[in-house]
Amino acid sequence: MHELSIAHSLVELAIEAAEHTGIKRVQALYVKLGALSGVVKEALVFSFDAVIQGTPLEGARLVIEDVPVKVFCPDCQEAHILPEPFPMRCPVCGTKTGQLLEGREMELYALEGGVEDDVKPPDC
Ligand SMILES: [Zn+2]
Repeated sequence: MHELSIAHSLVELAIEAAEHTGIKRVQALYVKLGALSGVVKEALVFSFDAVIQGTPLEGARLVIEDVPVKVFCPDCQEAHILPEPFPMRCPVCGTKTGQLLEGREMELYALEGGVEDDVKPPDC
């Protein structure tokens, strides 16, 4: 599954970033997900939960921010956010526009966690 390998790389990225920033225990990952990224959000969350088992990220949440498609319309000379990713037309004047500004990204943009190592999982 496509999302599984994405989840894997997200986890690797987050572990690396956590080491750099001194975060001992990651509680949440914040990811921007474009409407045209080709990633199914539910599948990604599901894969993420499976992938983090046994890693330093175990128990962390995946917080996904949806990024709508934003195009630049040459007629309006303005950027517009599309209510739907397709068709890729200016929502104001209807001009076909291929100038995609946002909507394709899949980006880890923040980590949340403690720098202290005092968070211990409860005893079962
Ligand atoms: Zn327009």
